[in-house]
This record gives sequence, structure tokens and C-alpha cells, in this order.
Amino acid sequence: MIVPLAHAPIPATTPAQSLHYRGRFAPSPTGPLHAGSLVAALASWLDARAWHGGRGGRWLVRIEDVDTPRCVPGAAEHILQQLATCGLLPDEPPVWQSQRSALYQAALDQLITQGQAYPCACSRKDIAAALRALGHAPERHATLPYPGTCRDGLHGRPARAWRFRVAEFKPNQALVQMQQAQGAHFSIASNTVHWQDRRLGAQVQDVAQEVGDFVLRRADGLWAYQLAVVVDDAAQGITHVVRGADLADNTPRQILLQNALGLPTPRYLHTPLVCAANGEKLSKQNGAAALDLREPLRALGEAAHVLGLPAPPRLPHSSIPEALAWWVQAWLHKTTMQTREHAVLSTLV
Ligand code: GLU
Repeated sequence: MIVPLAHAPIPATTPAQSLHYRGRFAPSPTGPLHAGSLVAALASWLDARAWHGGRGGRWLVRIEDVDTPRCVPGAAEHILQQLATCGLLPDEPPVWQSQRSALYQAALDQLITQGQAYPCACSRKDIAAALRALGHAPERHATLPYPGTCRDGLHGRPARAWRFRVAEFKPNQALVQMQQAQGAHFSIASNTVHWQDRRLGAQVQDVAQEVGDFVLRRADGLWAYQLAVVVDDAAQGITHVVRGADLADNTPRQILLQNALGLPTPRYLHTPLVCAANGEKLSKQNGAAALDLREPLRALGEAAHVLGLPAPPRLPHSSIPEALAWWVQAWLHKTTMQTREHAVLSTLV
């Protein structure tokens, strides 16, 4: 669980620290875009376009198709088409994670060499049994931290997955300090990561306590999201990550991995989620309907509303580029105000 922490040792926020901006939208092609994913797409596009007082940065799209059993044939092309219908066009050709295994393997090799990744023989059942033996009753839907069974070796059992050694993580403080000097908004004390989200404010997570040694390469041989996303954000030079708030509690794991791999940490902004009528987060898994793009401006208007942006005065009669340009200005105003508020708050703590 992520909890805001009023006294996190985070440097005060200053607007526009980096000299350039590269943002991305990174959909998993497990189905078409729905109302919730359009919010994240629009927010990341607006943030890139609004950067530097509206002069704009680069906006990329990355197809996150590493979890092949969950990918739906044709979904990626459909998503790209939906984005184009909404006027959200990437500045560079999209990259596909399924073509980037060599990069993920190199990162895993580096972590193994550094003693920060180890093979794991545990199945889900083994983990549940080990947790029960430790007195934890696994609750439905709750992810309990890995109990560390294979941390000291496989003891003759066959390796299934690779895990990141979070326990007793020794951060590369020289790297953290260098990044802080450049305006970075995080710190690492052993396994605990403090970071400043641009919308949610100060956050903290003890990764060892709350997640444990997490998977880098799965038992089925597929690359885990955490490793692929960290490698790709760095390889693509991403400076700003804007994505849904359901991913906020993945950020500390990604910050630890970046630090272990000697990679820069982008700035993060997690957008509000869209909820279904039953109050659950709208997602492809719970059957969210594909966006109805017969009226793209209406869909964009609803996404902008979730982001707290007002409707352009002439909305029904605007063109998509006109409406988007209007929202860029509205986003600029909103994020500048938020940045000021966070800066004031962090000088108060
Ligand atoms: N592929 C992830 C998803 O669709 C998003 C990853 C990210 O933005 O970091 O939920």
C-alpha cells in the first residue's frame, strides 16, 4: 500500500527541471482502449505538448506486449487507430516490447552479475504454503510479499523464475545524489523509497515489507512488466511518465530497479482512474467497453473532465486539433498551479 508521508525527505519541487521532455503512453494490447485508458493517453499527450510553457516535448507510444498469453491479436493496431482518431499521434514510430528481449536479457545479466537477481524455484502453491507456515493467512486478492525462500539458494530445486533481491538493497547513493542535484524527486533509504508524484504528492513504500523480492523473469519464461518498463523507459530516454493511478504502487519497485541498473529515474504523474458503475476501476479485465469513437470529441471531453479540465467553450463545434490545443493550455495552467502547491507544501514540512 502507498501512503502519503508528510515528512518525506524530498527536495522541494521546482518547475521544469529537465532540459528536454520525452513522455510515453504504454498500452498493453490486451484489448482496445476504454474510457479509463484514454484518460492516461490524453494526460500523457497533454503533458508532453504543454511542456516548456506550451513549446512541447516528444510523445511516444510503446506497445507493451510482453505478456503474450494476455495479448489479443490486432489489439495493438486497433489502439493505434483509436489514438489517431482522437488526434493523439506519436512523434516517433511505436516500439514493441516483444522485439526487445535482448535488452531485457542484458539487464537481467547485469543484475545477476551484481548479485541483485537470483533464481527462484517456488510455485504459487509453494509461496502460499511458506507464508502460511510464517503465520500469514493469504487473503483473497491480496498480494503478500515473497517470503524469500530461494534467496539463499535453490537447495537442489530447479529454477523457475528470476527475482530481484530487494531485501538488504544497498542503493547507489552517488547516483541518487547526482539525480537529486539535477532536480530528481525521490530518495532511497535501504528498501524504502520516498518519491514525489506530481499529482498525488509525497509517497513512500517499504518495498521489502510490502512487495518483497519481486519477479524479473517469470516461470513461463516471459519478461516481467517491472523489468521491461524500466529498461524501455531508460532506452527511450523517457523523462516524464504519466499513467493511471493503479500503477502508482509499482513506482518504488521501478525506482529500485533503475538505481540498481544505473539508470535515470523519470518524473511520475499518476492520473485519476475511471470507475465502473459498481465502483471498481474500469479495466479490460472487468470487461470495460471499447471506446465509442463515432464521436471522438465526446470521448476526449469525458477524459478531459476526469482530468479536471473544463470543456472548451465551443466544444461541440470545435475540431479535434482546436479542442486539444485548448486543453493543452488548460493542462498547463492546472499543472503549474499544482506544482506551485506542492512546492509550497514541501517547504512547509
Ligand atoms: N502497459 C501498462 C498498462 O497498460 C502501462 C505501463 C506503464 O505505463 O508503465 O497498464
